Amino acid sequence: MREETGKLDFEKVIEEFERITKDAENVQKETLRKILEENASTEYLQNLGLNGRTDPESFKACVPLVTYKDFEPYIQRMVDGDVSPILTEKPITAVSLSSGTSQGNRKFIPWNDELFKTTVQIYQTSFAFRNRDFPIQDGKALSFIYGSNAPPKKGDVILGTATSNVFGNPGYKNAMQALKSQSCSPDDVIFSPDFQQSLYCHFLCGLLFREEVQSISSTFAHSIIYAFRTFEQDWEELVNDIKEGVLSSRITVPSIRDAMSKLLKPNPELANLIHKKCAGLSNWYGLIPELFPNVKYIQGIMTGAMEPYLNKLRHYAGEVPLVTSEYGSSEGWIASNVNPKVAPEFATYAVLPQIAYFEFIPITQLDGTQVKLEAVGLTDVKIGEEYEIVLTNPAGLYRYRLGDIVKVMGFHNSTPEIKYMRRSGLLLTITTDKHSENDLQLSVENASKFLAEVKKEVIDYTSYIDLSTEPAHYVIFWEISGETNDEVLSECCRCLDKSFIDPAYMFYRKCKGIGALELRVVGKGTFEKILESQVARGVPVSQFKTPRCVGPTNTTMLQILFENVVKSYVSTAYD
Ligand code: AMP
Repeated sequence: MREETGKLDFEKVIEEFERITKDAENVQKETLRKILEENASTEYLQNLGLNGRTDPESFKACVPLVTYKDFEPYIQRMVDGDVSPILTEKPITAVSLSSGTSQGNRKFIPWNDELFKTTVQIYQTSFAFRNRDFPIQDGKALSFIYGSNAPPKKGDVILGTATSNVFGNPGYKNAMQALKSQSCSPDDVIFSPDFQQSLYCHFLCGLLFREEVQSISSTFAHSIIYAFRTFEQDWEELVNDIKEGVLSSRITVPSIRDAMSKLLKPNPELANLIHKKCAGLSNWYGLIPELFPNVKYIQGIMTGAMEPYLNKLRHYAGEVPLVTSEYGSSEGWIASNVNPKVAPEFATYAVLPQIAYFEFIPITQLDGTQVKLEAVGLTDVKIGEEYEIVLTNPAGLYRYRLGDIVKVMGFHNSTPEIKYMRRSGLLLTITTDKHSENDLQLSVENASKFLAEVKKEVIDYTSYIDLSTEPAHYVIFWEISGETNDEVLSECCRCLDKSFIDPAYMFYRKCKGIGALELRVVGKGTFEKILESQVARGVPVSQFKTPRCVGPTNTTMLQILFENVVKSYVSTAYD
């Protein structure tokens, strides 16, 4: 599908997507056949008695629906150097350490070239649709991406992350070039041992190529917000580097210094221009188009756990559109955004039937009463229903319960368009009350309206179940964009409490079976410290999601939160 220029023919990519999605059922069967055929002699499938059969009915009859825990011992053997065909025929040479999503438990997920191919396919599809609605010229992308220059290894197995496995693949650069999305940063900036230094230089490169930057992106939108917040602190130093043509002494990694010295020349004119633009902004509103006048859109995953950051992102973006990109996980890609003009809050993703074999467990079966779960096929899902996604991928996961809940909003030809809803697990529970990640997000959104009235916002938040009091109660931690008076914050605290509308919660709150909710405000930069502490333990910055509930064993994060509390409020909602 390449034109002579080496660029992709985007219309052909769309045509191919239309063809595949019109035939989704058969494409799924073929995808499953291929995966099972290639891995027929693996220990896992042999033990389940599949005997080389590759049809969906035999597959469903023989292979159980499982979670990560069930695969863990097999994966561990592979990581420990067992090269026999355990889950895949070809030995696995890399694993991706998942970010642990928003609840903080990290997983080892097998990674192989097949997953890289699906990554290219999904990037091409999303890009083709994006480019149809927001055409970009050949140019550069300011991409806040971070790889590792020397990912750790156990024996021969690389212990990477999904994003670093993608960025580090020899085919990545070509793929991005074909998508007119080549990063303006040199490789030494992307693959660096220190992400703060990478970030600083990503910005510096972006500013040097400011006229050429056509898009701004990251895997998850959080990285973009984090980058621009950091810019607010560092901009004068960046301007100075451009003026003098000398890289700040804060950059100590020799390979980054070398790479940047090739780009940096004294440019007082550019420095003055940027200085003037930054100094002229009120509260950084519209920073992005001021710095990057030719940027056509800002792109990254913006749904689910990223939604709380959209207001802030819009603040920086001004009129520049925000486009949510794809839906996927370390375990494999799932779906593309084929309606990029839709605001992220309403976005849906169309499942790509050729990248994995998908099944869906109706959430009505997930209440714990169903003895045997029955998943339905990709084309059998019903509009308006919610499901947990199950995937079988070409890297050794078979009927793997992803733990994500999605809602079917419609169909694109015969493939479903899904909306990401939440993680399936419960986030907060003390007695029989139940609150998902979404419930907490809604409660925070409701309560932060009081902050908006005084022109403040929640920068980030998390929660904690305080079992040390009798009765136990929930604690919500907020970092806020500035000083706010006690009256407003007490109102926010009441509202947080009142916004938990689970009947069991309301019942136990009234009869004092659950104590009053507490809002603890933490000081500026607390969530930055949390990010840094997670990165220090190997969580990839590109995939970082703030844990929305801190368990009692996460002592590092709890310590950071507790040490940084500046004020606390107890809800009077049920007094
Ligand atoms: P990771 O394991 O770090 O790759 O994170 C994958 C998880 O991020 C998924 O299981 C989802 O919970 C979440 N995620 C990925 N893409 C999206 C999306 N487009 N919208 C909402 N959540 C997403």
